[in-house]
Amino acid sequence: MAALSLTALHASHGGCWLREGDVTRTISKGEAVMAAADTLLLILNAPLVATRLGYPDLSGLDLLELYAFVHPARFVVPTPKGLAHALNLPEPQGDADVARLLQQAAAALLDTCESPDWPEREGAWTGLQSLVRMRWPWATLLTGRIAKPQRAERWLFTRLPEWEESPEHAQPRQIVLHEADVLHRLEDLTGAGAEQRPGQRAYAAQAAHAFAPRERSGHPHLLLAQAGTGIGKTLGYLAPASLWSQQSGGTVWVSTYTKALQRQLRQESRRAWPERRTDGSRPVVVRKGRENYLCLLNLEDALQGGFAGRAAILAQLVARWAAYSRDGDMIGGDLPGWLGTLFRQRGITSLTDRRGECVYAGCPHYRKCFIERATRASAGADLVIANHALVMVNAARGRDTAARPTRIVFDEGHHVFDAADSTFAAALTGAETIELRRWVIGPEKASRGRRRGLSARLADIVSYDEAGSKAITAARAAAEALPGDGWMQRLAEGAPWGPLEELLAAVRATVYARDESGGQEAGYGLETEAADLDGAFVEISQAAREALADLRQPLMRLGLRLEALLEDPPDWLDGQGRARLEGARHSLSWRIDLLAAWEALLARLGGPADPEYVDWLAVERSEAREFDIGIHRHWLDPMKPFASVVLEPAHGVIMTSATLRDGEDWAKAVARSGAEHIGVVPRLTAQESPFDYAAQAEVLIVTDVPKGDIPALAAAYARLIEASKGGALGLFTAIRRLRAVHGRIADRLARAGLPLYAQHVDPIDTGTLVDIFRDDPAASLLGTDALRDGVDVPGHSLRLVVMEQVPWPRPSILHRARRMAGGGSAYDDSIIRARLAQAFGRLIRSRQDHGYFVVLSSAFPSRLLSAFPAGTPVRRISLEEALHRVSSHASGETTPEGENAGRS
Ligand code: SF4
Repeated sequence: MAALSLTALHASHGGCWLREGDVTRTISKGEAVMAAADTLLLILNAPLVATRLGYPDLSGLDLLELYAFVHPARFVVPTPKGLAHALNLPEPQGDADVARLLQQAAAALLDTCESPDWPEREGAWTGLQSLVRMRWPWATLLTGRIAKPQRAERWLFTRLPEWEESPEHAQPRQIVLHEADVLHRLEDLTGAGAEQRPGQRAYAAQAAHAFAPRERSGHPHLLLAQAGTGIGKTLGYLAPASLWSQQSGGTVWVSTYTKALQRQLRQESRRAWPERRTDGSRPVVVRKGRENYLCLLNLEDALQGGFAGRAAILAQLVARWAAYSRDGDMIGGDLPGWLGTLFRQRGITSLTDRRGECVYAGCPHYRKCFIERATRASAGADLVIANHALVMVNAARGRDTAARPTRIVFDEGHHVFDAADSTFAAALTGAETIELRRWVIGPEKASRGRRRGLSARLADIVSYDEAGSKAITAARAAAEALPGDGWMQRLAEGAPWGPLEELLAAVRATVYARDESGGQEAGYGLETEAADLDGAFVEISQAAREALADLRQPLMRLGLRLEALLEDPPDWLDGQGRARLEGARHSLSWRIDLLAAWEALLARLGGPADPEYVDWLAVERSEAREFDIGIHRHWLDPMKPFASVVLEPAHGVIMTSATLRDGEDWAKAVARSGAEHIGVVPRLTAQESPFDYAAQAEVLIVTDVPKGDIPALAAAYARLIEASKGGALGLFTAIRRLRAVHGRIADRLARAGLPLYAQHVDPIDTGTLVDIFRDDPAASLLGTDALRDGVDVPGHSLRLVVMEQVPWPRPSILHRARRMAGGGSAYDDSIIRARLAQAFGRLIRSRQDHGYFVVLSSAFPSRLLSAFPAGTPVRRISLEEALHRVSSHASGETTPEGENAGRS
């Protein structure tokens, strides 16, 4: 294959390289910018190169765009090495060799388009014709290489298969699983000859109890299972789950918090279930919230002129992907996470169904819709893999009561509390209310998009049903009281319109008046308790409450009218219309609930505080720019609504995690399960990790990096990363410090061949950053403390975790209330121990792993040390000593045995 003689540019923190013909030379950033301004250069990941060059207008022939066109829905790590692997090319030997690879990769991809064996050929020619009109830089190079098909290609919307209506499912048979059968199933899943793991067997036997017939209504079997890392808990619960679903005909839901675990579960479930049943249906289905999936109607709108400029090119590439996607999942599915960031705007989100505008059966693509397909597939599945938020939302307001989950495994169970906290919270904010206004009235400005108000979505009601039509007109009029476009500007100018904007203005004024957090100057969000509000504020909030009630009334009348029409359908209501009304009734009912929750929130302002809730006023800001304002209400204990909505109707629930307990203590895990709210005593089980932590890991508490000294912190990070030769995950509690450290050390490390990536710095989504980190043992990744749970990188790629300080909880109003209710500093300690345990858990994922866990804080209280698995050596040492330990292991010298200083 001849290398294409396009000029290629590679820029990293280590320098810039330009390759013309077959000569590569090092150039300065200035020369690189000039070259890019002059000619269309071959580059990889334009936004990243633009950041490296400090030249935001950079454009060129981006290989990632070409890859997305040629191989839609195919995974690639978007780095030179990743591209080389995906295309079967030799890996580049260092930065200076990358530009050559870019030429080879371009040639390989363009050659593929001429090959008769190109699997993703269908649709390419047609898509290319549109891309030529849009002047996509690659279009001219592709024209002539992609042969015009003999017969016209099928349009995407004809090509996608239709889903089938599935018959109603009988309720599951009531069965008792026998331990011998469960263990036998476990052996089948782990494979003949696999080493027997006693912890896993004990775990599976315990998990089986959750599937027994329920003895009392409202009292599910509840198992809390602490599963030390490496016991093999996934197969441990899949063994009884698969046996139960096979024997009972029922569906088991496994709920996760991270996408990494969803991916792993999808793979592991293949051991228990085939990809398809004999009738072609799928026994295992991944379900996500509808805002994750491509909405075909939005895509059609984008392809037909709704998107312009670069966004229109993105729409074409998404259309290519949609034809080859497994399930239409755009966020964490098979659409590359990097595709959206190449186009530097919110194109991807506007192609999903975020705002609940779906017209259901009124949509021309309804029978091919990815969301409808996923919903139907889960009703007949043996195993549904979902996330905590979706399971809770589904239990609270699922469209089909018969399909609500009754046997649920919450893996990553330590996150159930946080997921319940956000699911059952109420937020009456500008952003939320304007969405509701648009949902009722439609967009204010003449928009090319398809967004419609209620009257357009229910056009047949408006034409044929007088009572329904009157309710819609009244709702439309009442929604005028909600904030409209430009509300933030009006608030800033002191000129709010209508009762809700007046309320938000009062919230803003109160928050600024009361703030003494020091956050005003720092640019952070601001908040204050919703307590002791003055008479004027209370009056404004009551006027806002009345306005919300005025909107809720006609929506309720409309809901009742729809119900009546569905019960006794008139002549004009055909099957499609019926399905549309059912969809509308569902989305109406949760908006009515939302309005009622807002009214309740406002009704209490000025009155005595309700001890069940924590209410506060907030101005959300990012880098001093306000982006939302409003009133928030959280449950003091969100497990109370969780217990009544999720646990009570369920028959069997397992909550499991490696960090469910606090050390050996079950009290917090039991309290956080919600069991006591429904009078259930959970079964408890714990299996210890089989890893030899004394030999595999060390905790190093570095005592001589001064707190608040950014240059010293940055130097410590750089030296530790050098000592371990990369493979480091750096966790920060403040984005500001993360950026400051990254800015100081990235160039130095890159020159040593140690690439450093960072959340909030590199224009790359977090999932892709983790993919890059996993793929390159020399790479390191900096992220916020929240990344401690999202990184699943077994093996050599992750061998050092560095925390900049003890991960104290943020002292928010909500945290303060829970802290007071939860035992003061003991509550904080348990949160910190959980965070440390989760971060430590990233380090050792298999028996072969070895790693160091470093905390750069001398003020590390000994009472937190129980966060680490028993036997893990803990040393309080200087940075020099820590560097010595890390580097001697990285260079292959064994760590001296027997000098374990024990827990200090
Ligand atoms: S049915 Fe709804 S979500 Fe699906 S394509 Fe149509 S409008 Fe979009």
